[in-house]
Amino acid sequence: MHIQDIFTKYLTTFSFEFFPPKTEQGAEELFKNIAEFEALKPAFVSVTYGAGGSTRELTHDLVVRIHDSSSLDPIPHLTCVCHGESDILEIIERYARAGVSNILALGGDLPRGMEQYDRGQDAFRYATNLVKFIRVFNESGAHPDKRGFGIGVAGFPEGHPATQNRLLEMDHLKAKVDAGADYIVTQLFFDNRDFFDFRERCDLAGIRVPIIAGIMPVTSASGLKRMAELAAGARFPAALLRSVQRAGDNADAVKRVGIHWATEQCRDLLDHGVRGIHFYTLNKSDATKQIYLSLGLSSVSA
Ligand code: FAD
Repeated sequence: MHIQDIFTKYLTTFSFEFFPPKTEQGAEELFKNIAEFEALKPAFVSVTYGAGGSTRELTHDLVVRIHDSSSLDPIPHLTCVCHGESDILEIIERYARAGVSNILALGGDLPRGMEQYDRGQDAFRYATNLVKFIRVFNESGAHPDKRGFGIGVAGFPEGHPATQNRLLEMDHLKAKVDAGADYIVTQLFFDNRDFFDFRERCDLAGIRVPIIAGIMPVTSASGLKRMAELAAGARFPAALLRSVQRAGDNADAVKRVGIHWATEQCRDLLDHGVRGIHFYTLNKSDATKQIYLSLGLSSVSA
Protein backbone atom coordinates (compact mmCIF):
# COMPACT_ATOMS: atom_id res chain seq x y z
CA MET A 1 0.00 0.00 0.00
CA HIS A 2 1.34 3.45 -0.91
CA ILE A 3 2.62 5.18 2.24
CA GLN A 4 0.16 8.04 1.77
CA ASP A 5 -2.69 5.51 1.98
CA ILE A 6 -1.05 3.92 5.04
CA PHE A 7 -1.05 7.29 6.82
CA THR A 8 -4.69 7.82 5.85
CA LYS A 9 -5.62 4.40 7.18
CA TYR A 10 -3.69 4.58 10.47
CA LEU A 11 -3.74 7.52 12.86
CA THR A 12 -0.57 6.04 14.38
CA THR A 13 1.54 3.57 12.40
CA PHE A 14 3.44 0.72 14.02
CA SER A 15 6.12 -0.86 11.88
CA PHE A 16 9.04 -3.28 12.19
CA GLU A 17 12.50 -3.40 10.70
CA PHE A 18 14.19 -6.64 9.62
CA PHE A 19 17.61 -7.35 8.19
CA PRO A 20 18.13 -10.00 5.50
CA PRO A 21 19.68 -13.11 7.10
CA LYS A 22 22.85 -14.35 5.38
CA THR A 23 22.10 -18.05 5.83
CA GLU A 24 19.20 -20.32 4.90
CA GLN A 25 18.81 -21.19 8.60
CA GLY A 26 18.58 -17.50 9.53
CA ALA A 27 15.94 -16.96 6.86
CA GLU A 28 13.87 -19.88 8.14
CA GLU A 29 14.11 -18.58 11.71
CA LEU A 30 12.93 -15.15 10.56
CA PHE A 31 10.01 -16.72 8.74
CA LYS A 32 9.03 -18.58 11.90
CA ASN A 33 8.95 -15.20 13.65
CA ILE A 34 7.07 -13.60 10.79
CA ALA A 35 3.86 -15.32 11.88
CA GLU A 36 4.33 -13.65 15.30
CA PHE A 37 4.94 -10.27 13.65
CA GLU A 38 1.86 -10.72 11.46
CA ALA A 39 -0.25 -11.20 14.59
CA LEU A 40 0.77 -7.67 15.66
CA LYS A 41 -0.69 -6.27 12.42
CA PRO A 42 1.95 -3.64 11.64
CA ALA A 43 1.18 -0.94 9.07
CA PHE A 44 4.35 -2.01 7.21
CA VAL A 45 7.73 -3.65 7.74
CA SER A 46 11.06 -2.57 6.29
CA VAL A 47 14.11 -4.55 5.16
CA THR A 48 17.61 -3.12 5.48
CA TYR A 49 20.20 -2.91 2.70
CA GLY A 50 23.75 -4.00 3.57
CA ALA A 51 26.40 -1.29 3.50
CA GLY A 52 27.61 -0.69 -0.06
CA GLY A 53 24.98 -2.99 -1.54
CA SER A 54 26.42 -6.06 0.19
CA THR A 55 22.92 -7.57 0.60
CA ARG A 56 21.53 -6.39 -2.75
CA GLU A 57 20.06 -9.78 -3.72
CA LEU A 58 19.26 -10.88 -0.16
CA THR A 59 17.30 -7.67 0.48
CA HIS A 60 15.42 -8.03 -2.80
CA ASP A 61 14.62 -11.70 -2.22
CA LEU A 62 13.44 -11.14 1.36
CA VAL A 63 11.24 -8.20 0.32
CA VAL A 64 9.64 -10.21 -2.49
CA ARG A 65 9.20 -13.27 -0.28
CA ILE A 66 7.50 -11.23 2.45
CA HIS A 67 5.35 -9.50 -0.18
CA ASP A 68 4.28 -12.75 -1.86
CA SER A 69 3.91 -15.08 1.12
CA SER A 70 2.72 -13.03 4.10
CA SER A 71 0.20 -10.36 5.01
CA LEU A 72 3.04 -7.92 5.79
CA ASP A 73 3.72 -4.94 3.51
CA PRO A 74 7.52 -4.71 2.99
CA ILE A 75 9.44 -1.49 2.31
CA PRO A 76 12.99 -2.04 1.02
CA HIS A 77 15.84 0.22 2.12
CA LEU A 78 18.14 1.38 -0.68
CA THR A 79 21.46 3.24 -0.35
CA CYS A 80 23.55 5.29 -2.79
CA VAL A 81 27.01 4.01 -1.80
CA CYS A 82 28.86 1.91 -4.42
CA HIS A 83 26.07 2.15 -7.00
CA GLY A 84 25.88 3.66 -10.47
CA GLU A 85 22.65 4.93 -11.98
CA SER A 86 22.02 1.71 -13.93
CA ASP A 87 22.29 -0.37 -10.71
CA ILE A 88 19.74 1.82 -8.97
CA LEU A 89 17.40 1.79 -11.96
CA GLU A 90 17.56 -1.99 -12.22
CA ILE A 91 16.82 -2.36 -8.51
CA ILE A 92 13.81 -0.06 -8.48
CA GLU A 93 12.43 -1.50 -11.74
CA ARG A 94 12.46 -4.96 -10.17
CA TYR A 95 10.63 -3.65 -7.11
CA ALA A 96 8.05 -1.92 -9.30
CA ARG A 97 7.46 -5.14 -11.26
CA ALA A 98 7.10 -7.08 -7.99
CA GLY A 99 4.37 -4.68 -6.85
CA VAL A 100 6.40 -3.12 -4.01
CA SER A 101 4.78 0.21 -3.10
CA ASN A 102 7.43 2.19 -1.17
CA ILE A 103 11.20 2.62 -0.81
CA LEU A 104 13.29 4.05 2.06
CA ALA A 105 15.92 6.14 0.23
CA LEU A 106 19.22 6.49 2.13
CA GLY A 107 22.69 7.87 1.66
CA GLY A 108 24.35 4.82 3.22
CA ASP A 109 27.81 4.40 4.71
CA LEU A 110 30.92 2.84 3.26
CA PRO A 111 31.38 -0.79 4.24
CA ARG A 112 34.18 -1.55 6.71
CA GLY A 113 37.54 -1.81 4.98
CA MET A 114 36.46 0.38 2.04
CA GLU A 115 37.30 3.73 3.63
CA GLN A 116 39.52 4.60 0.63
CA TYR A 117 36.68 4.09 -1.86
CA ASP A 118 36.16 7.11 -4.14
CA ARG A 119 32.53 8.22 -3.77
CA GLY A 120 33.00 10.16 -7.01
CA GLN A 121 32.28 6.86 -8.78
CA ASP A 122 28.76 6.72 -7.36
CA ALA A 123 25.81 8.15 -9.23
CA PHE A 124 24.49 9.82 -6.08
CA ARG A 125 26.42 11.35 -3.19
CA TYR A 126 23.41 12.07 -0.94
CA ALA A 127 19.99 10.59 -0.33
CA THR A 128 18.42 13.74 -1.81
CA ASN A 129 19.72 12.73 -5.24
CA LEU A 130 18.27 9.24 -4.85
CA VAL A 131 14.90 10.70 -3.85
CA LYS A 132 14.97 12.90 -6.99
CA PHE A 133 15.86 9.88 -9.14
CA ILE A 134 12.97 7.82 -7.73
CA ARG A 135 10.66 10.76 -8.31
CA VAL A 136 11.68 10.95 -11.97
CA PHE A 137 11.05 7.21 -12.20
CA ASN A 138 7.63 7.78 -10.61
CA GLU A 139 6.82 10.47 -13.17
CA SER A 140 7.72 8.09 -16.01
CA GLY A 141 4.61 6.06 -15.15
CA ALA A 142 6.60 2.80 -15.00
CA HIS A 143 5.14 1.82 -11.61
CA PRO A 144 1.75 0.07 -11.52
CA ASP A 145 0.54 2.69 -8.97
CA LYS A 146 0.17 5.92 -10.96
CA ARG A 147 1.74 7.83 -8.05
CA GLY A 148 4.79 5.59 -8.28
CA PHE A 149 6.74 4.60 -5.15
CA GLY A 150 6.04 6.23 -1.81
CA ILE A 151 9.42 7.52 -0.57
CA GLY A 152 10.80 7.53 2.97
CA VAL A 153 14.01 9.18 4.21
CA ALA A 154 16.10 9.06 7.39
CA GLY A 155 16.17 11.72 10.13
CA PHE A 156 18.56 12.07 13.06
CA PRO A 157 17.06 13.56 16.25
CA GLU A 158 20.51 13.82 17.84
CA GLY A 159 22.21 14.95 14.64
CA HIS A 160 24.12 13.06 11.95
CA PRO A 161 27.86 12.88 12.67
CA ALA A 162 28.90 14.01 9.16
CA THR A 163 27.25 17.43 9.57
CA GLN A 164 28.39 19.23 12.68
CA ASN A 165 26.43 22.37 11.80
CA ARG A 166 22.96 21.51 13.12
CA LEU A 167 21.22 24.33 11.26
CA LEU A 168 22.75 23.26 7.97
CA GLU A 169 21.70 19.71 8.73
CA MET A 170 18.06 20.77 8.90
CA ASP A 171 18.47 22.48 5.50
CA HIS A 172 19.71 19.16 4.10
CA LEU A 173 16.75 17.33 5.60
CA LYS A 174 14.34 19.92 4.22
CA ALA A 175 15.97 19.55 0.77
CA LYS A 176 15.45 15.80 1.00
CA VAL A 177 11.77 16.25 1.80
CA ASP A 178 11.31 18.92 -0.86
CA ALA A 179 12.88 16.53 -3.38
CA GLY A 180 9.85 14.27 -2.90
CA ALA A 181 10.00 12.34 0.38
CA ASP A 182 6.64 11.35 1.85
CA TYR A 183 7.82 10.58 5.38
CA ILE A 184 10.80 10.50 7.74
CA VAL A 185 11.92 7.60 9.94
CA THR A 186 14.34 8.51 12.70
CA GLN A 187 17.51 6.97 13.95
CA LEU A 188 17.04 5.19 17.30
CA PHE A 189 17.13 7.37 20.40
CA PHE A 190 16.71 6.72 24.12
CA ASP A 191 15.65 10.14 25.37
CA ASN A 192 12.32 11.31 23.97
CA ARG A 193 13.25 14.94 24.54
CA ASP A 194 15.62 14.59 21.58
CA PHE A 195 12.77 13.37 19.40
CA PHE A 196 10.30 16.05 20.52
CA ASP A 197 12.85 18.76 19.93
CA PHE A 198 13.68 17.32 16.51
CA ARG A 199 9.97 17.29 15.63
CA GLU A 200 9.69 20.94 16.60
CA ARG A 201 12.81 21.86 14.63
CA CYS A 202 11.35 20.09 11.58
CA ASP A 203 8.17 22.09 12.04
CA LEU A 204 10.14 25.34 12.26
CA ALA A 205 12.01 24.36 9.08
CA GLY A 206 8.67 23.89 7.29
CA ILE A 207 8.92 20.10 7.12
CA ARG A 208 5.33 18.86 7.13
CA VAL A 209 5.63 15.14 6.32
CA PRO A 210 4.88 12.50 8.99
CA ILE A 211 7.82 11.71 11.30
CA ILE A 212 8.09 8.14 12.55
CA ALA A 213 10.10 7.53 15.73
CA GLY A 214 12.71 4.75 15.59
CA ILE A 215 12.81 2.65 18.77
CA MET A 216 15.24 -0.12 19.60
CA PRO A 217 14.87 -1.92 22.92
CA VAL A 218 18.14 -2.91 24.57
CA THR A 219 17.92 -6.68 24.94
CA SER A 220 21.47 -7.53 26.04
CA ALA A 221 24.64 -5.86 27.29
CA SER A 222 26.47 -6.86 24.09
CA GLY A 223 23.57 -5.48 22.04
CA LEU A 224 23.95 -2.15 23.81
CA LYS A 225 27.63 -1.98 22.80
CA ARG A 226 26.77 -2.90 19.22
CA MET A 227 24.09 -0.17 19.10
CA ALA A 228 26.65 2.40 20.23
CA GLU A 229 28.86 1.34 17.30
CA LEU A 230 26.14 1.28 14.65
CA ALA A 231 24.04 4.28 15.69
CA ALA A 232 26.92 6.74 15.72
CA GLY A 233 26.17 9.77 17.86
CA ALA A 234 23.28 8.18 19.83
CA ARG A 235 23.27 9.19 23.51
CA PHE A 236 22.82 6.57 26.21
CA PRO A 237 21.19 8.29 29.21
CA ALA A 238 22.84 7.65 32.59
CA ALA A 239 19.54 6.40 34.03
CA LEU A 240 19.40 3.67 31.38
CA LEU A 241 23.05 2.73 31.87
CA ARG A 242 22.58 2.60 35.67
CA SER A 243 19.65 0.20 35.29
CA VAL A 244 21.65 -2.01 32.91
CA GLN A 245 24.57 -1.96 35.37
CA ARG A 246 22.27 -2.93 38.25
CA ALA A 247 21.16 -5.97 36.23
CA GLY A 248 24.84 -7.06 36.10
CA ASP A 249 25.41 -10.48 34.53
CA ASN A 250 21.76 -11.43 34.68
CA ALA A 251 20.82 -11.51 30.98
CA ASP A 252 17.07 -11.76 31.69
CA ALA A 253 17.22 -8.73 33.97
CA VAL A 254 19.08 -6.68 31.32
CA LYS A 255 16.40 -7.60 28.80
CA ARG A 256 13.59 -6.62 31.21
CA VAL A 257 15.30 -3.27 31.85
CA GLY A 258 15.63 -2.58 28.11
CA ILE A 259 12.06 -3.56 27.33
CA HIS A 260 10.75 -1.49 30.23
CA TRP A 261 12.72 1.56 29.04
CA ALA A 262 11.48 1.21 25.44
CA THR A 263 7.90 0.68 26.65
CA GLU A 264 8.01 3.89 28.67
CA GLN A 265 9.46 5.73 25.66
CA CYS A 266 6.62 4.43 23.45
CA ARG A 267 3.95 5.32 26.03
CA ASP A 268 5.29 8.86 26.26
CA LEU A 269 5.54 9.16 22.45
CA LEU A 270 1.94 8.00 22.07
CA ASP A 271 0.81 10.42 24.79
CA HIS A 272 2.46 13.18 22.76
CA GLY A 273 0.80 12.34 19.46
CA VAL A 274 3.63 10.57 17.65
CA ARG A 275 2.61 9.79 14.03
CA GLY A 276 4.31 6.40 14.04
CA ILE A 277 6.69 4.09 15.89
CA HIS A 278 9.19 1.97 13.99
CA PHE A 279 10.75 -0.90 15.97
CA TYR A 280 14.27 -2.02 15.13
CA THR A 281 13.55 -5.70 15.83
CA LEU A 282 16.80 -7.48 14.86
CA ASN A 283 14.41 -10.10 13.42
CA LYS A 284 13.12 -11.13 16.86
CA SER A 285 9.48 -10.66 17.81
CA ASP A 286 9.78 -11.19 21.56
CA ALA A 287 10.66 -7.67 22.79
CA THR A 288 8.27 -5.91 20.40
CA LYS A 289 5.45 -8.22 21.44
CA GLN A 290 6.02 -7.50 25.11
CA ILE A 291 6.06 -3.76 24.47
CA TYR A 292 2.78 -4.07 22.55
CA LEU A 293 1.18 -5.96 25.40
CA SER A 294 2.28 -3.47 28.05
CA LEU A 295 0.98 -0.59 25.95
CA GLY A 296 -2.39 -2.28 25.56
CA LEU A 297 -1.94 -2.13 21.81
CA SER A 298 -3.02 -5.57 20.80
CA SER A 299 -4.98 -8.55 21.98
CA VAL A 300 -2.07 -10.91 21.26
CA SER A 301 -1.36 -13.24 24.14
CA ALA A 302 2.06 -13.30 25.77
P1 FAD B 1 22.01 11.73 3.59
O1 FAD B 1 20.66 12.32 3.61
O2 FAD B 1 22.70 11.62 2.28
O3 FAD B 1 22.90 12.56 4.62
C1 FAD B 1 24.22 12.12 4.96
C2 FAD B 1 25.00 13.30 5.51
O4 FAD B 1 25.24 14.21 4.45
C3 FAD B 1 24.25 14.09 6.58
O5 FAD B 1 25.20 14.52 7.52
C4 FAD B 1 23.68 15.25 5.81
O6 FAD B 1 23.48 16.40 6.64
C5 FAD B 1 24.76 15.48 4.79
N1 FAD B 1 24.26 16.10 3.56
C6 FAD B 1 23.10 15.88 2.93
N2 FAD B 1 22.98 16.63 1.82
C7 FAD B 1 24.14 17.35 1.74
C8 FAD B 1 24.65 18.31 0.82
N3 FAD B 1 23.95 18.69 -0.24
N4 FAD B 1 25.88 18.84 1.06
C9 FAD B 1 26.61 18.46 2.14
N5 FAD B 1 26.18 17.56 3.05
C10 FAD B 1 24.96 17.01 2.86
N6 FAD B 1 22.42 2.24 6.21
C11 FAD B 1 22.58 1.18 5.38
O7 FAD B 1 23.68 0.96 4.84
N7 FAD B 1 21.53 0.34 5.11
C12 FAD B 1 20.30 0.52 5.63
O8 FAD B 1 19.38 -0.25 5.36
C13 FAD B 1 20.10 1.65 6.51
N8 FAD B 1 18.89 1.90 7.04
C14 FAD B 1 18.71 3.02 7.84
C15 FAD B 1 17.42 3.32 8.30
C16 FAD B 1 17.21 4.45 9.09
C17 FAD B 1 15.82 4.75 9.58
C18 FAD B 1 18.31 5.28 9.45
C19 FAD B 1 18.09 6.46 10.35
C20 FAD B 1 19.58 4.99 8.98
C21 FAD B 1 19.79 3.88 8.14
N9 FAD B 1 21.04 3.57 7.61
C22 FAD B 1 21.20 2.49 6.78
C23 FAD B 1 22.21 4.39 7.95
C24 FAD B 1 22.36 5.58 6.97
O9 FAD B 1 22.53 5.13 5.65
C25 FAD B 1 23.59 6.38 7.43
O10 FAD B 1 23.38 6.86 8.72
C26 FAD B 1 24.03 7.47 6.51
O11 FAD B 1 25.28 7.99 6.98
C27 FAD B 1 23.07 8.65 6.46
O12 FAD B 1 22.00 8.33 5.68
P2 FAD B 1 21.02 9.48 5.14
O13 FAD B 1 20.02 8.77 4.30
O14 FAD B 1 20.56 10.37 6.22
O15 FAD B 1 22.04 10.26 4.18
